Amino acid sequence: MVSMSSEQPLILVCNDDGIFSPGILALADVADEFGQVEIIAPDRQQSAVGHAITMSTPLRSRSFQIDGRFNGQAVTGTPADSVKLGHDQLLDRKPDLVVSGINHGSNAGINILYSGTVSAATEGTILGYSSIAFSCTDYDEDADLSGAKEAARRVIKYVLENGLPKGVTLNLNAPAGPLQGIRWARQANSRYVEEFEGRVDPHNESYYWMKGTMEVLDEAEDVDVKVLEKGYASLTPIQYDMTAYSLMKDVEDVEL
Ligand code: MN
Repeated sequence: MVSMSSEQPLILVCNDDGIFSPGILALADVADEFGQVEIIAPDRQQSAVGHAITMSTPLRSRSFQIDGRFNGQAVTGTPADSVKLGHDQLLDRKPDLVVSGINHGSNAGINILYSGTVSAATEGTILGYSSIAFSCTDYDEDADLSGAKEAARRVIKYVLENGLPKGVTLNLNAPAGPLQGIRWARQANSRYVEEFEGRVDPHNESYYWMKGTMEVLDEAEDVDVKVLEKGYASLTPIQYDMTAYSLMKDVEDVEL
């Protein structure tokens, strides 16, 4: 969706690590090369909240200057809340692009489903905007994001020039360090092997910490996880329409 006006493209930047994370500033830096940047993001860490929205409490937002260079609004809600509030209340005009990230940690494989970063971008798509999620596979906040930034530069340029089909979001993951290249990739079939560590609190009550690891069930070489292992950035078109189309023909004649 390229802006037809003479104004610069408006780019909404969101994430799930919170508005003060280094990754969102890295993405705002890249977006700034293409237009006017508005950062609207959760005021705190919101990783793995998926597409959650806030309905039982009000949302508030506070304006900040981020790094002295960008207008930022910190929202007391989730990544999806932030994009919805930006769209409906906080932005002066409709964005030409919604970008989310750069997340600190991989959003390949089944992570896509749990990810707040991806859900911010998906929410942008639902609202009718071209939207892209960006993640670096390295969880370290000091990781070298140069490759992820270069990948973001290339993908943002492509999407601003060409738009995206309705209902489709792009999900990019990049290894830390310089960019070797970008490969289109499917989402790897994968799941978490949930390992909880049980502990006991001072009141003798049990509690649990999740520390699951992702198990890849996919043998194919063209999936996001494998592409990343080879050192490339992976780019996956994803959709929020969860209909199992492959089954629709089979159930056509089933009477219930
Ligand atoms: Mn995160």
